[in-house]
Amino acid sequence: MNLLKRRWKYWLGLDLLSGLALTFRYMFRPKVTINYPYEKGRISPRFRGEHALRRYADGSERCIACKLCEAVCPALAITIEAAPAADGSRCTTRYDIDMTKCINCGLCQEVCPVEAIVEGPNFEYSTLTHEELLYTKERLLANGDRWESVLAANLAADRRKG
Ligand code: SF4
Ligand code: SF4
Repeated sequence: MNLLKRRWKYWLGLDLLSGLALTFRYMFRPKVTINYPYEKGRISPRFRGEHALRRYADGSERCIACKLCEAVCPALAITIEAAPAADGSRCTTRYDIDMTKCINCGLCQEVCPVEAIVEGPNFEYSTLTHEELLYTKERLLANGDRWESVLAANLAADRRKG
C-alpha cells in the first residue's frame, strides 16, 4: 500500500508541488537574511570588537597607566610603558596590543577603572599581514576618536542593563 501511495505521489508530482507552494508562501514574508556588507545586523552594546582607547571630552587621554589591563590580559597581548606627564599625572608612553594574540575576552575593558580601553562595535578589521594587527597607542586612540559616540552610547546602555 505504501509503495502504491509513493508511486502515485511520484507520478502526480506532489512533492514538487508542495515544495513550490512552500517557496511561494515564503516569497511574501519578511526576509530573515540581510545583504551584507551593504546591510548590517544589530549588534549588542556588549559586543567585543576592535579595541579603542578613549579620551575625555577635553581631548585628554583617559588612561592613567595603572597597567591593570596589561596584568589581567590572559593572552599577554598588551604592552604598556609609562612615565609622568608634565602636570605630574601618569600617562602611557607606549600602549600596544598585539591583536593576533588577543582572544577578545573583554577582561581589559572590565578591569579598566576609567573606561579608557574598550572593545568597540567594529568587527571589520581583518588584514592581509600580521604587522597590520600590531596596534600602537596612536592607532588605538584613533579608533577611540572615530568610534567615541558609539562607544559612549554602548557603555551607557550597558550600565542601564546592570
Ligand atoms: S580582550 Fe582579553 S585577550 Fe584581548 S587584549 Fe583585552 S584582555 Fe587581552
Ligand atoms: S587602559 Fe585602563 S586599565 Fe589599562 S593602563 Fe590605562 S587606565 Fe589602566
